Amino acid sequence: MTHFCQTAIIGAGPYGLSLAAHLGAVGADFRIFGKAMTSWRENMPGGMMLKSDGFASNLSSPDPASTLKVWCADRGVEYHDQLIPVPLSVFVEYSCWFQKRYVPRLEEQQVVSLAKSPRGFILTLDNGEQLEAANVVLAVGINWFQNLPPSLRGLSRQLLSHSFGHRELSRFSGKRVLILGAGASAVNAAVMAQEDNVDVALVARANLVQFHTAPDPDAVSWLKAITHPSSGIGPGWRSFLCSNAPRLFRRMPDAFRLRAIKRHLGPESGWFMQDKLKAHQYLGHVIEGARAEGDRVTLITRQDGKWHEIVADHIIAATGFRPDLRRLPFMDEALRGQITHLEHTPRLSDQFETSVPGLYAMGILAANTFGPLMRFMVGAEYAAPRVAARLMKMESKIRNVA
Ligand SMILES: Cc1cc2nc3c(=O)[nH]c(=O)nc-3n(C[C@H](O)[C@H](O)[C@H](O)COP(=O)(O)OP(=O)(O)OC[C@H]3O[C@@H](n4cnc5c(N)ncnc54)[C@H](O)[C@@H]3O)c2cc1C
Repeated sequence: MTHFCQTAIIGAGPYGLSLAAHLGAVGADFRIFGKAMTSWRENMPGGMMLKSDGFASNLSSPDPASTLKVWCADRGVEYHDQLIPVPLSVFVEYSCWFQKRYVPRLEEQQVVSLAKSPRGFILTLDNGEQLEAANVVLAVGINWFQNLPPSLRGLSRQLLSHSFGHRELSRFSGKRVLILGAGASAVNAAVMAQEDNVDVALVARANLVQFHTAPDPDAVSWLKAITHPSSGIGPGWRSFLCSNAPRLFRRMPDAFRLRAIKRHLGPESGWFMQDKLKAHQYLGHVIEGARAEGDRVTLITRQDGKWHEIVADHIIAATGFRPDLRRLPFMDEALRGQITHLEHTPRLSDQFETSVPGLYAMGILAANTFGPLMRFMVGAEYAAPRVAARLMKMESKIRNVA
């Protein structure tokens, strides 16, 4: 028998759990699928500190007591909105508590197929169950969208991997590893490699590894607040606008939005990583290719017109994530074909609805519409209540008709 529910949420990361908490609070008819917080629990460097400040590291719910700040205070865990970086272990513990407290009915199954049906959508789970839902929310996060440099895609997995998925790097202890990139993931991976006694070097096209400015508790706060306002995605006016005006961002022309997404907020590292990074750095190097030589790999780069060859045992591409609907393996081709898109990410309404009625997308899939805010969990504070309100409105309409 196929069960029917009003809303199915796919994914139980910060976005999916936040939406579920808002829907749960108003008694909505929904189901949510996926293991809780797997990107964070299983795929990020174990000893990592969050890049986002404490005040921007919450999952969203209507309950004011659901914040990381309150959770830390109740347990005597050291916390400050901005001055103390949040350890990954603390964030994971907090978010698992959040799930149990606000989303107790999470179902751990994976969604293995999603297609249109007469009443909305039909979903198949990895335990074989099928269900129908009037609305589906894609809160599928980042793991489908790992980006590898095209010139390296021919290398075997033994020689090349993505930074996502490396909890620790001890298996490379004593070996030579090149980490590609100059962003937060690259710096995190390099520092983790140093700690695991890996002979590590960073290779990046950028000429500089950039870090957030450290917060200064002694700075004159009103002056700083005007010249360099703080926001959930980092300090500065541009970040402030992106954080506080996602709806305005959505109304900007496509070309502006795409440019802003690409240029603003390169993935700078947290200020607290600057002193820790000791790895040798090949900066200003453009990656031209690589060749496998036995069980080693030679990376070929160009810097100021000169060619370089750098030999290593393994390359880790810390080259980010590129959202693309074509990479969601569970989505039916015919459904995907009906979604109006911009660079293969869905165009979304003000309420995060795609051009297919009843199909919504949040998180990184929404970044080309709502801006860089959607690349951070703090974006769930904007997205989750809006999507929940829209879904509840639709549900009430149906109840009134019935
Ligand atoms: C190293 C690193 C550090 C970062 N640090 C920060 C930071 O400090 N602050 C910050 O705000 N952001 C940070 N980010 C970005 C962060 O990943 C996002 O902000 C956040 O995870 C977005 O939440 P999400 O729910 O969209 O995605 P995710 O956390 O990726 O959650 C999506 C979930 O959906 C699940 N899923 C996918 N497909 C299915 C399916 N078919 N069925 C069931 N479940 C499915 C996934 O397994 C996953 O558990 C960092 C990213 C990386 C890689």
